[in-house]
Amino acid sequence: MKFTSWGAAQQVTGSKHLLVLPGGTRVLIDCGLDYEKRSEFELRNGTFPFNPADIDLLVLTHAHIDHSGNVPTLIKQGFNGTILCTKPTLELSEYLLRDSLNIQRMEAAAKERVRNKGKKKGIKVKKQADTATLLYSKKHIEDMLGMAQTISFNKLYKFNQELSVEFVLAGHILGAASAILHIQENGETIKMGFTGDLGNYGSKLVPDPTPMPDLKWLVSESTYGGRNHVADTDDACNELLKHVVDTCVTKGGKLVIPAFSVGRTQAIIFAFHQLYRDGKLPNIKIFTDSPLAIKSTTVYENHLQYLNEEARAFQQRHGSLFDFPNLYVLEEEKESNLLAMLPEPCVIISAAGMVEGGRIQMHVKNHIGNSDNTILIAGFCAEGTLGHRLLQGQDFVEINYRREPVRADIFRTDAFSAHPDHNGLLKFFKGSIGDKTKGVFLVHGDVVQMNLLAADMDFKPVYTPEKGQTFDLI
Ligand SMILES: [Zn+2]
Repeated sequence: MKFTSWGAAQQVTGSKHLLVLPGGTRVLIDCGLDYEKRSEFELRNGTFPFNPADIDLLVLTHAHIDHSGNVPTLIKQGFNGTILCTKPTLELSEYLLRDSLNIQRMEAAAKERVRNKGKKKGIKVKKQADTATLLYSKKHIEDMLGMAQTISFNKLYKFNQELSVEFVLAGHILGAASAILHIQENGETIKMGFTGDLGNYGSKLVPDPTPMPDLKWLVSESTYGGRNHVADTDDACNELLKHVVDTCVTKGGKLVIPAFSVGRTQAIIFAFHQLYRDGKLPNIKIFTDSPLAIKSTTVYENHLQYLNEEARAFQQRHGSLFDFPNLYVLEEEKESNLLAMLPEPCVIISAAGMVEGGRIQMHVKNHIGNSDNTILIAGFCAEGTLGHRLLQGQDFVEINYRREPVRADIFRTDAFSAHPDHNGLLKFFKGSIGDKTKGVFLVHGDVVQMNLLAADMDFKPVYTPEKGQTFDLI
């Protein structure tokens, strides 16, 4: 059996792992977009280092675009096999992929405008990337929906004589799965586990990650290797409340929270709802401003059975997870523009989480110059993103080509993190690595974090595959 990591190998985005079974079945685990270098976006995502038509089965662990975002390109280039995922993953993927295609269209149009401007000024503009091509079309998203086979958690799906697949709850976001591959090898069944993205222990809404015992091989994410979260998820409500009181009540300012549309936005709104029901939330308006988040929230409400006990009990008691009087859901972009002029203190939750793209950039730009306001970064921000620059404590930041003075307070919280930290990963490994385990592969992290994690693991060998490095698993 041969294992090759073609994406999220010593980096965080672009998850894509290829497994060729002894009998020849070719399985791809995830097919996400690689965002590592924006300037190389088309180069990194436009082609595959293997023939998509040769893949028999695609196992999709969850909907996030760095895991699902290049499935339509795979189909466009010849993949015609089965796609296996959970029902919520399929529903969320559809929204995320349509949104991703829109972003590609907008970026292509922006490049075209720059090109035309250059032409007008008589500047010779290079041909290639300026006429940015889209990776795929709407048709390929629709094809994907038709090719997908949705399965439940904890049930064995027999794909063929040598392979069955089982999904267990990964936490992370709604419908996220870790995949256990049951493989026929020399007359016996061995198990190989792929964590996908794991959730943080004690997360809002989603359950804890499920251990995968009796594995021969484990391929694990390592996003927070070597780092521990500063805040405890148990304190998520208190942490939010503290920022609301400090900013909105004491200073009369606005609290701006950049948050991913799928997962984090729902967890934050749920925490605000809990504060409201506990009678702790001051009388202020909370605006959520992301069209994708609105659609995703509906998917959460339609699949309550995949949420944790706390969330289900809350829903039973109050009839809704996310709906309470202080919450205002903005749909039109013109409404979100008006928030800057609102004289009263309020909370604004908008996407994207790393303050790259989406409506959040406008909200940050509109509020960063006032010392009464706070920008609360709720999670990991990759280097090169505006979120990362804000956290560096600079006096000025560039937003949409304009230098803006930073007068607002900038804070960060890990209380809503969707990944386990260093200790959380070690806890997960305790339940998943055992006597039968012959090797662990760390992916979805940078190599420094992976090495720090490997050094603390009570197991050897731990591999940190390079992109395209093939391992013979015997
Ligand atoms: Zn994810």
